[in-house]
Amino acid sequence: MSKSVFHLGLSTVLALGLSLAGCAQSAAPQTIPDIAGKVMTVNGPIDASELGETLMHEHIFINFQKAPAMNPPPTDITVVRVPAEIPEGMAAGLTDFNQSLNAIMDFKKIGGKTIVDVSSFGLMRDPLALQLVSRVSGLNVVMGAGFYMRQMHPADMEQLSVEQLTDIIVQDVTVGAQGTNIRAGVIGEVGIVGKPLEQSELKSLRASARAARITGAPLNIHNFETLEEMMTVLDVIESEGVELNRVVMSHTGERDEATREALFKRGVYVEWDYFGQAPLPKEKDVERIESLYASIQAGRAKQMVMSHDICTQPQLKENGGGGYTYIHDVIIPGLKAKGVSDEIIHTIMVENPRRVLPFVAPQAPVAQKG
Ligand SMILES: [Zn+2]
Repeated sequence: MSKSVFHLGLSTVLALGLSLAGCAQSAAPQTIPDIAGKVMTVNGPIDASELGETLMHEHIFINFQKAPAMNPPPTDITVVRVPAEIPEGMAAGLTDFNQSLNAIMDFKKIGGKTIVDVSSFGLMRDPLALQLVSRVSGLNVVMGAGFYMRQMHPADMEQLSVEQLTDIIVQDVTVGAQGTNIRAGVIGEVGIVGKPLEQSELKSLRASARAARITGAPLNIHNFETLEEMMTVLDVIESEGVELNRVVMSHTGERDEATREALFKRGVYVEWDYFGQAPLPKEKDVERIESLYASIQAGRAKQMVMSHDICTQPQLKENGGGGYTYIHDVIIPGLKAKGVSDEIIHTIMVENPRRVLPFVAPQAPVAQKG
């Protein structure tokens, strides 16, 4: 499970700020476990072949509302939310264990196997609840890490260095989250808002990419920024020595075809998400099926992923939403009606997650200029 074959050299340890920077509490291990080829779930590593049908971007539990004083990364930093910035309609969150369990069981009942929960720091990520819900449901759950949108950044984000942020994320992926031994299996969703890109989000992004390089974990980026800014985001990730086929770009399936194509050309995965919010948006779904179809026709199926991004009460079936089966109930039948084959659906729902979620071998961070 944690065979260590990669040792951080002293220069790396220094570069990570582990030895002398006074952050002993958050020190990442000096050996990074190599789980190349395996997917890290909240119940430990599994073979990629065990993933099955996978939802790549959900939030089984999420809370935009409470100050997560109990829920910072395992360091002495204090995480504080800015309540005024809570996106409208999201305030209620998903915090009831039984409600969330019932909701994900719908996915299990139709043959679903794995849910990636990309609740990152700032969204009340709860490792113990995720581990329990995975055990009770029998679904694989992969947990996120890293920092969400700048509105939810720690109060002391400005004072934290890239090295310190990297250290926090590496700790999460290699040792465990929030004082547990439950390890994150994906770095994300990393919140990028842009317009313009701010220093704090670029710092969080750079730390996430560096941690992806050091640990071998995949990356998931939340994108609200412009295409030009997305290209900058991808440049930052590449400059940290992370290949872009390790990156899922959330919320980008909604963009126009030229934007999607520009992303595909960089080698990332484009994600269609945020489905099934009540009142169910029939016309919007027709548009989405069209955009999915256009990208499939353009030969991009191997870089496409789909998920509901369930993060609000109105997305649950009990509240009139589509729940965790909406993609299977509405979107996939819509694609099939247009002649999309089972093989292509399998590529999107099974093979692509199986390609991007397994870790790659850990590598030393790239030396940065200046
Ligand atoms: Zn997001």
